[in-house]
Amino acid sequence: MNNLWLLAILALGLPLLLVPWALQADLGGPAQTVPTISFPASTYQVKAGDTLSAIAARFGVPVAWIMVSNSLSSTTIYPGQHLVIPKGGVLHTVKPGETWHTIAQAYGVNVETLREANGRWAEPRAGTQLFVPAPEIVPLSSPSAPFQWPVRGPISSGFGPRIHPIYNVPSFHAGIDLAVPEGTRVRAAAAGRITVAGWEGGFGLLVVIDHENGYETYYAHLSKVLVSPGQHVQAGEVIALSGNTGLSTGPHLHFEVRYLGTPVDPRPLLP
Ligand SMILES: [Zn+2]
Repeated sequence: MNNLWLLAILALGLPLLLVPWALQADLGGPAQTVPTISFPASTYQVKAGDTLSAIAARFGVPVAWIMVSNSLSSTTIYPGQHLVIPKGGVLHTVKPGETWHTIAQAYGVNVETLREANGRWAEPRAGTQLFVPAPEIVPLSSPSAPFQWPVRGPISSGFGPRIHPIYNVPSFHAGIDLAVPEGTRVRAAAAGRITVAGWEGGFGLLVVIDHENGYETYYAHLSKVLVSPGQHVQAGEVIALSGNTGLSTGPHLHFEVRYLGTPVDPRPLLP
């Protein structure tokens, strides 16, 4: 589907998606007008606190249907995001090289049923969207975590309540500790903009990246900072060297993920 068209539909808040079809060469047949296929779908704008499974339950559709219809490779959603909620099937975006046959096979549906649902055209062109009625299988793209490991090392302290290692009182550990030798290269967990690169109290030398999607990542107790505020970094780019600065009982990287300012468990967001 044409993105502009989708945006126009979203802007108008129409409950139904009208998907325009490019006129295809009709071998030997009479010229035909461009048909408009109405897909049974609505749109939903994600609110704070929504989860994909809660949205799926509310609309009575499988999570996987929403994921494939929106080309999501993980269940991570963010407030303000517009989702297409399909009804009675899924929307499939045609990839180069795909045919009616390969698509039907991928979803476990009859090829004629698939063609009929979409108007029996010549082989679909890459980039167009098709409606796949009642798929048997939903071929999700390989799940990819939103973040990558900033360093490779054992988790020496997880996220959540713990006894503070220095004050020896119950406290809440807002991140995970990765035990790595001092001087280990620390990589950006995802692309973003550096907002903090310097000394920050108990964090010691700290780098904070704003991922501009509600998420921020914190890299603490560093020995050397290699970036500066305002700089944009790519996922995997080396931003610092790990250390043992600030309130730290030994060399490690304290890695924290905050969503809309609140620390969240990084583990489910990592591969
Ligand atoms: Zn920590």
